[in-house]
Amino acid sequence: MMELLKTLSVTEVREKMAALLQDKKIQVEEVNLLEGLGRILAKSVTSPHDVPEFNRSTVDGYAVKAADTFGANEGIPAMLAKKGEVHMGMYAGVDVGEGECVYVPTGGMMPTGANAMVMVEYVEHLDDSTLLVQQSVSPGANVLRKGEDLEKDREIFGRGHRLRPQDIGLLAGMGFQKVPVFEPLKVAVISTGDELISPEEVLSPGKIIDMNTYSLSAALQEDGFKVIGRAVVKDDMETLRQTLRDYMKRADIILISGGSSMGEYDITKKTIDSMGEPGAVLHGMSLKPGKPTIVGMAEGVLMIGLPGQPVSALVVYHLLMKPLLWKLTGNDTITPIVSGELTVNIPSAPGREHYVMVTLEQENGRWMVSPQHGKSGMLSMMGRSQGMVRIPVNQEGLSNGDKVDVILF
Ligand code: AMP
Ligand code: MG
Repeated sequence: MMELLKTLSVTEVREKMAALLQDKKIQVEEVNLLEGLGRILAKSVTSPHDVPEFNRSTVDGYAVKAADTFGANEGIPAMLAKKGEVHMGMYAGVDVGEGECVYVPTGGMMPTGANAMVMVEYVEHLDDSTLLVQQSVSPGANVLRKGEDLEKDREIFGRGHRLRPQDIGLLAGMGFQKVPVFEPLKVAVISTGDELISPEEVLSPGKIIDMNTYSLSAALQEDGFKVIGRAVVKDDMETLRQTLRDYMKRADIILISGGSSMGEYDITKKTIDSMGEPGAVLHGMSLKPGKPTIVGMAEGVLMIGLPGQPVSALVVYHLLMKPLLWKLTGNDTITPIVSGELTVNIPSAPGREHYVMVTLEQENGRWMVSPQHGKSGMLSMMGRSQGMVRIPVNQEGLSNGDKVDVILF
């Protein structure tokens, strides 16, 4: 427990969260290769063999001894004896001697004796057994050497790498059928508020439908967390305590949206404090939107109190939860960004980091960036935005025409 006066910067909050979980060991599981898509590697993987495993032609053409072609051109072609052909997927089984050539299709195995390929475009057939080569090729030309793509025992991907489609294909090509990945962290999501109902309930005056368990669960799913439960509870400490107790048995992290400000009915901080040591360790972040943020822990379960405002809740999620996952797994994800030009001034009060929702429009090959106006309770503002722009803590806004980075979401 602590006295909560000073708001912390986003970076300081991230550091505190990471410190709370520094001893956390994330379990490792082996999954089928295709199920590894989007998952984070728990161990580095090395190639079990050379890729390719034999010298391959990269063109349709003739395998030759490069020296036999030296000086050849259209006017003075080199004359070579045709000596059979190599079939795709078969052992070459033929040797190229001096003055000889063998047909090899793209990807076929290079015959012994040959060290270069002449493309079919540069040959002519004098007769059935004689080839005219109109180009001089150097040793190694048009050949993918054994191990040139990947050498045996070379690290392909390090621990922390998030698997993408090209990685799954590469691993398949190496013969991997399973991959070691981190088990997803288990997260429960609770929305608090006397005004909240679930979508299947009947709307009555004064009530609104809970959006946050949905938007947050979706964000968690997208980022590779496992959502183990969703609940909507009233602003009642005992009910919240009961729900927390239940989830604490199974979750690594619990997100609680709403009730995180200083109002009379804002019970999140008190409740986290009541669940065990150390309780809430910070309350308030120098961020707009997202100031009413709480971080705490009880019985080894990280608890994050998020603002109830739907836009704020997602912004805080974005700024805290993704980096936490990256930190814990050593993940190397790079946040997708596009650079563009602001179409208007954006005022901002110094003292807190400010995020502004924006739309993007292409104009003469440049991205034009326009802020979306609205209150942080308006999720439609985020719905029509393609990303957000960050205004650093001590900057008094941005000006029309400024170059800005848009964090895509
Ligand atoms: P609070 O943080 O509890 O003060 O809530 C701030 C605002 O967000 C209030 O207008 C709430 O009605 C709204 N709000 C809180 N939780 C949710 C939710 N789960 N879905 C939609 N709006 C919410
Ligand atoms: Mg509330």
